Amino acid sequence: GVPADTLLAHVRDVPDFPEPGIVFKDITGLLVDGEAFAEAVRRLADIVPEGVELIAGMEARGFIVGAALAAHLGIGFVPIRKAGKLPPPTHRASYALEYGEAVLEVREGTVSPGARVLLVDDILATGGTAAAAADLVEQVGAEVVGVTFLLELLGLGGRDRLGGRVVSAVLSVE
Ligand code: IMP
Repeated sequence: GVPADTLLAHVRDVPDFPEPGIVFKDITGLLVDGEAFAEAVRRLADIVPEGVELIAGMEARGFIVGAALAAHLGIGFVPIRKAGKLPPPTHRASYALEYGEAVLEVREGTVSPGARVLLVDDILATGGTAAAAADLVEQVGAEVVGVTFLLELLGLGGRDRLGGRVVSAVLSVE
């Protein structure tokens, strides 16, 4: 297997992107290396909570990581999209951004009431995206059994924002 620090070596720091003062974590290098990507998916599979029936991934990198994990586990995948991408009818949840607000949508009928859903995204930062996605899944009457990330950025309070939910990540950095 590939050690965790080796996986982390595939993640690139990009200073001042998308804005001055922000250090963007770029996971592209981890996807393009087949061995590293496969190891990342196996590690994700290792930390999936018991009883997950469906994976919901957040646009856009949650599609890549979430769909790979769902196929690995042999369960279904549902895309949670940014506003205006899905044809109606959809369920919607809005959440606050630093300036303004954003909306996430899921197609009606794709998440069944009572389904045990795992939310998957590449990176946990402030937790706003994941919190809105969790609201959306719960709006439908499904259960969020966990929220799983490839990389957790510690110190941004993301975990706290997700309340008492089961939060797990393959990698973490300050
Ligand atoms: P949050 O809502 O602040 O937790 O931000 C998480 C969302 O923004 C996820 O969908 C991530 O893909 C994206 N994101 C936040 N920070 C980074 C980063 O440093 N690199 C890549 N994506 C990021």
